[in-house]
Amino acid sequence: MPTAPAKPANPGRFNFANSYARLPEHFFARLAPTPVAAPQLIQLNRPLSVELGLDPEWLGGEQGVAVLAGNSLPPGAEPLAMAYAGHQFGAWVPQLGDGRAILLGEVVDRKGRRRDIQLKGAGPTPFSRGGDGRAALGPVLREYLISEAMAALGIPTTRAMAAVLTGELVVRETRLAGAILTRVAQSHVRVGTFQFFAARDDRRALIELTDYLVGRHYPELAGTARAARILLRELVQRQAGLVAAWMLVGFIHGVMNTDNTSIVGETIDYGPCAFMDAYHPETVFSSIDHYGRYAYANQQAMAHGNVARLAQSLLPLLADNPEEALAVAREEVARFPELFQAAWLAGMRRKIGLREERAEDRGLIEELLALMAANRADFTLTFRGLCRLETVDLQGDQELRRLFERPEEFEPWAQSWRSRLAAEGSDDRQRRAAMEAVNPAFIPRNHRVEEVIRAGYQGDFSRFRELLAVLAAPFADQPEFIRYARPPRPEEVVTKTFCGT
Ligand code: AMP
Ligand code: MG
Repeated sequence: MPTAPAKPANPGRFNFANSYARLPEHFFARLAPTPVAAPQLIQLNRPLSVELGLDPEWLGGEQGVAVLAGNSLPPGAEPLAMAYAGHQFGAWVPQLGDGRAILLGEVVDRKGRRRDIQLKGAGPTPFSRGGDGRAALGPVLREYLISEAMAALGIPTTRAMAAVLTGELVVRETRLAGAILTRVAQSHVRVGTFQFFAARDDRRALIELTDYLVGRHYPELAGTARAARILLRELVQRQAGLVAAWMLVGFIHGVMNTDNTSIVGETIDYGPCAFMDAYHPETVFSSIDHYGRYAYANQQAMAHGNVARLAQSLLPLLADNPEEALAVAREEVARFPELFQAAWLAGMRRKIGLREERAEDRGLIEELLALMAANRADFTLTFRGLCRLETVDLQGDQELRRLFERPEEFEPWAQSWRSRLAAEGSDDRQRRAAMEAVNPAFIPRNHRVEEVIRAGYQGDFSRFRELLAVLAAPFADQPEFIRYARPPRPEEVVTKTFCGT
């Protein structure tokens, strides 16, 4: 008998090992995505799908796209919508949950890590609270671009594995093309998941969820302290590092509610988020953030508050008696500001090319930021431009100075900076390479993101793909794509961003 040509065994096989679905039934609602009219692939993240042990050829084919659209379930999927609660803009909402996202399951990736695969925009769930369970194309493209840009910048984030058109319209202010994003996360558990159970005095659920998460994410720490304390300590550390990382690239999340705060410190729930062009600490983009609660410079305080909410939910688990539990909670949460400051200062030192730590560094950095704010200097270009300046030759300063409304104000700072560099014997070439590895040339600038979305609604995804490719190498110069590096002209400035939900 002739032998069949070698084909990959089971190309549509997902390496599912679903653990969340083994937790008690009241942690979620089991349901399948609602099928859509006419699935069409917009984009597939091939490297990520390979990382997850999936075959990109199959995923991009008809059967794969049917899965990505929620029209068919791969063998082994145990679809569910997760329950959670949360503080939204400070107001308590006892019942939120995945209103338009469905977890297909968890796969063990090629490195042995457990990753959630979720379809966002997959139809209504018991948690939809009157919403349609769908997503418009614009927010899907936005999340795809920005989350992948964050990943390329080296910032912890959920990932985008695919975007598909549904062939259906969703009703927002107008009728818009509908789409579904396939989101990959280490975990979709949020601070709000704990609040959900704490608010119901469900101590057993809190214990189960805590033990589950420590076993899933921190097995090496299990037994070193109470599980709840491990979880809290890790979150404090990770959130402090995460928010510092955001601020070092000028990122504003925009909706730092506790339901949008990942328990493992990934950036999650990209809504009206944006990167700043001109630096100003009070910058806000979100159309729903009327009081600037989640403004750029408020982000560390807000994250500190969010980890305190986790501590509050975990109180019954932190010690045997309430006073002791409160003391533990306070001690862990109190570490946040220091951890944030340390991460931020270390990152800022790298951004301005300092290898050594000196007491005057913070002052030098704050002076630069104050100058940038007063001069509306572009955040990204200022730091990128600084990479090229040399210690003795001042030629290169001309270009950078132009980023400041009053260019002469940059000079005294540049002088102090050069003395500081001289004091540690800084080498121009080495410093430039080190600085260019942390100061991106490319960020997803709002006006370009909006442009890409507008083209997408016209059925043209070529600009989306081009921007996505540029953002995959944010630290490379890519002179042919300079248009994506430039700040907006006055008429191109985007002042408001929308959740679009
Ligand atoms: P967000 O502000 O995007 O984090 O969403 C807050 C809550 O609203 C979550 O519980 C979401 O699942 C839910 N939600 C957002 N958009 C929709 C929608 N179109 N349909 C149903 N639920 C939604
Ligand atoms: Mg959310």
